Amino acid sequence: MKLVAATGNQGKLRELRSILTGHELLSQSELGIGGAEETGSTFVENAILKARHAAHASSLPALADDSGLEVPALAGAPGIYSARFAGPGATDADNCNCLLDKLGDNTDRRARFRCVLVVMRHALDPAPLICQGSWQGEIAAAIAGSNGFGYDPLFIPDGFDCTAAELDAAVKNELSHRGQALQELLARLPAFLADK
Ligand code: IMP
Repeated sequence: MKLVAATGNQGKLRELRSILTGHELLSQSELGIGGAEETGSTFVENAILKARHAAHASSLPALADDSGLEVPALAGAPGIYSARFAGPGATDADNCNCLLDKLGDNTDRRARFRCVLVVMRHALDPAPLICQGSWQGEIAAAIAGSNGFGYDPLFIPDGFDCTAAELDAAVKNELSHRGQALQELLARLPAFLADK
């Protein structure tokens, strides 16, 4: 089945494509579709806004991922603002440095990634498919590793003594917030798409 992925984030796309192998995932940027305005106050709302925008512009079913990092010592920040924590147009490196600055020498370094995936069969789909995952860990003292994207070089998953950016892609996909949400999506997608 052909789906449009409502993202221009190459790191997300790589992970979505490597797990959703039975589906043709076109990226909205390949189709010349710009990003939606993320005006929601939850991951679920923002994922729905993105999926609706991509389904409307492409006339295809759309898959959106809204995800982010929550740090209890920062009252849950950066949360839904993870992509723009260091300001509009921030790079992954800017965001990682911003996180290290804000956390300083705080000893509570717990953190959790969250991922919400939404599929809409068309732009006015009143009952979207919603799948979620979370991944617990802590924030390292300094960046390490070059795999993955975003905050991966700072995120030490529980049970590991290296960052997510030092893990093989297959290991991250098996354990991560996105990997978990995608496993749920894989199980539910065929029935969801068949139910017109
Ligand atoms: P979104 O595009 O608004 O969903 O922003 C997601 C942001 O959260 C990304 O730009 C990353 O900064 C961060 N993020 C989400 N998932 C991951 C991940 O798997 N690894 C590292 N950072 C992530």
